[in-house]
Amino acid sequence: MSFPNSVDYIVTRKCDMNCGVCWGSNMPDYKKDMPIDVIDAVTENGVKQLVFTGGEPLLEDKLPDMLYRAKQDGLTTFLFTNTNLLGQRHKEILPYVDKTSFSLDGYNDETNAQARKPGHFANVLQALDITSKYPDISFQVLTVVTKKNKDILDDIGAVLKKYADNPRFTWKLNYYQAIGRHPEKFRLDYEEFETVAQKTVERFAGVIPVRYSVPVHDIAYLFIMPDGNMYTTVGEDYVQAGNILKPETWNQNILDEINRNIAEREKVIAGRMKR
Ligand code: SF4
Repeated sequence: MSFPNSVDYIVTRKCDMNCGVCWGSNMPDYKKDMPIDVIDAVTENGVKQLVFTGGEPLLEDKLPDMLYRAKQDGLTTFLFTNTNLLGQRHKEILPYVDKTSFSLDGYNDETNAQARKPGHFANVLQALDITSKYPDISFQVLTVVTKKNKDILDDIGAVLKKYADNPRFTWKLNYYQAIGRHPEKFRLDYEEFETVAQKTVERFAGVIPVRYSVPVHDIAYLFIMPDGNMYTTVGEDYVQAGNILKPETWNQNILDEINRNIAEREKVIAGRMKR
């Protein structure tokens, strides 16, 4: 039975934002909360990296314990956060984090708030300033490219240049997945996304390392909830792949397909690098 090298752990469904581009707004519910068992189980089953996400993981009091356990188990820890609480909590959290990802969709508070909320822009910049001082953490800014910001990517890049001297910094442009609250307001077709993303890669070549996401989304990620239930996405739906704590429930066909699609994604990325 083989699991992907990297899986997403949904620490909580709670969030203090209500982003228009949220892909996690209709996540499956759960009753039990067994994070340490789940972390040990992913490690025992060969997973190498655990992505701590949500919802907003910093709303969970037990997050430092979870990160600590993951590090003890030898996992790479990757924290996706909206940054709102990082200023308050970074001292108890960042010592156990290997990589971080912060969402930023505009070049000032007004443009960023079209997809996020007022005040969020300053929190992201503060989080970047804090994280860049931790010498062992790789940090990325993730921009969801939509109808709202496709023409201001150069301006966002101009804000990010400040961090580009740091060799651990990257900028990722994400294709807006169909699981969202207002797809008609935000969604580009993939061809248009790829055109603006490629232009941005070229525009910032040698200045900021920019990557962009691939069109493979269905059955291409494995999410684990705090009760151990595992899901992947197909279009707007979450499809269950069993429970990590109960091997007899694992759906091998889904796990195999996720692994195949991850391999496909890596092939596309490797092909881009040869261009
Ligand atoms: S995109 Fe992230 S920060 Fe925004 S509402 Fe969804 S979970 Fe919260």
